[in-house]
Amino acid sequence: MTAPAAAALSGVAVVTGAAGGIGAEVARALVAAGLPVALLDRDIPALWELAAELDAAGEGVLAVATDVTDSADVDTAVAKVEGELGPIAYLVNAAGVLRSGQAAELTDEEWDITFAVNAGGVFHTSRAVARRMVPRRRGAIVTVASNAAGTPRMAMSAYAASKAASAMFTKCLGLELAGHGIRCNVVAPGSTRTPMLTALQGDAAERASIAGVPDAFRLGIPLRRIAEPAHIADAVLFLLSERAAHITMHDLTVDGGAALG
Ligand code: NAD
Repeated sequence: MTAPAAAALSGVAVVTGAAGGIGAEVARALVAAGLPVALLDRDIPALWELAAELDAAGEGVLAVATDVTDSADVDTAVAKVEGELGPIAYLVNAAGVLRSGQAAELTDEEWDITFAVNAGGVFHTSRAVARRMVPRRRGAIVTVASNAAGTPRMAMSAYAASKAASAMFTKCLGLELAGHGIRCNVVAPGSTRTPMLTALQGDAAERASIAGVPDAFRLGIPLRRIAEPAHIADAVLFLLSERAAHITMHDLTVDGGAALG
């Protein structure tokens, strides 16, 4: 997180998936920048643990147990955030799930939960926040999608398709909200060192992903390392900040060059 981007941020921020690897790092960076931050996640023990850590680091940290697949739950959470912290200026959609497996073997349940969280969750939260931002003519939204949204990956069809949906939804929203002074952008990480990646890969597969073994991943990582969550948080904070004041509907890939573009 660079100091100038932090200096160009002010107002209340909401982070979904805040208890996860990337969401927590984004939340830490926003608290370090001095912002009141609402942490939304369905993993209640992890959420309270992060809230305790961040409470000690900043002011105005609010944890709200929320399931982003439930639009009523999301609406209630967003109302609670505005009631307790004030008008929301920033939203980061980082909640996500990954169910891997060959398409022919995927169950209906795996497909449905993938789309319910990764696409439906982004819709529910962005809609709830956008409705409040529009009359104020101020706000920025960043959706954490994936480089898999634009590059086919082995055994990731549901995940990649859901991420493509969330990325395009976010860009369409950006078009609709641009006239209201609200920017909507996408950050597309590649492999990032978080619990999601650990669950997917294990060490041997992580090495294969860096080297580019075709059975594991179609492409390697030209910069030869897995991203740290802070690399993703830096990109998110930049796109939220006034330093990105003329950037909207953009998809910023942060993957060490893995997508080759
Ligand atoms: P993670 O598993 O550490 O965190 C995901 C968080 O989302 C968890 O805290 C989980 O409880 C929360 N979540 C899941 N379903 C939810 C629901 N219904 N309601 C509320 N919260 C819910 O994973 P991460 O790596 O930090 O992933 C963050 C985002 O980055 C995800 O959208 C993921 O798809 C994306 N991403 C991750 C990688 C990677 O390699 N780690 C790569 C590309 C994109």
